[in-house]
Amino acid sequence: MYILWFLCVSFWFQTDRFEEARHKMVTDQLAKRGIKEKSVLEAMRKVPRHLLVPESQKDNAYLDRPLPIGQGQTISQPYIVALMTEQIHPEKDMKVLEIGTGSGYQAAVLAELVKEVYTVEIVSELGKKAKSDLKELGYENVSVKIGDGYQGWAEHAPYDAIIVTAAPEEVPKPLLDQLKEGGRMIIPVGPVGQTQELLLVEKIDGEIKKTKKSLVRFVPFTRSPQAD
Ligand code: SAH
Repeated sequence: MYILWFLCVSFWFQTDRFEEARHKMVTDQLAKRGIKEKSVLEAMRKVPRHLLVPESQKDNAYLDRPLPIGQGQTISQPYIVALMTEQIHPEKDMKVLEIGTGSGYQAAVLAELVKEVYTVEIVSELGKKAKSDLKELGYENVSVKIGDGYQGWAEHAPYDAIIVTAAPEEVPKPLLDQLKEGGRMIIPVGPVGQTQELLLVEKIDGEIKKTKKSLVRFVPFTRSPQAD
């Protein structure tokens, strides 16, 4: 009986501790740095980032920095996730494609904001883990595919928006093709191992318009050997 009571209290304490850290993250790291979109702040106040990062990183989940997520990959710091999410102007009726599922955190943030999320991950261990974690957290509007995101996910195209969370040297052509007219894509582009430019890519009257947003550092966009 005493043990049960102890477990309940410590579980409550842990939950409370993470919630407090998350709210502080939204205020100090996002709102104070200029993230204005209320729905994005709200979504990031809600998504339990500590349950999507590896157990060893749980206590670091709400810190202002990128974190290792296994397989040599990293999840961006919360501010970059917020910045990219805000750039696509999320709306409740949108269908969004993400390339680079990683931990599933960005997908979960999107799932709070839009109707359908399709996300592609090239490292199968990461994709499988994210898929089961997202299911466990109850995100039923997210579909995860293991594959080379260079090809996008043609079956569900066109997309209102695309978020790419690994850095290719150029914007992949299939992603441009799968972007809806009037759609927005946010993508870090640049040479491997160097600082990249975060680009907003818009399709306006069939024309592609690129706007530089800021300098960022993402893991490289890899290609599967059998891909073209
Ligand atoms: N959005 C993730 C962070 C991603 S880190 C999150 O919220 O946790 C970048 C991810 O892109 C890594 O998991 C990496 O394996 C993946 N990636 C790299 N190249 C890729 C490609 N060609 N297709 C799909 N995923 C790719």
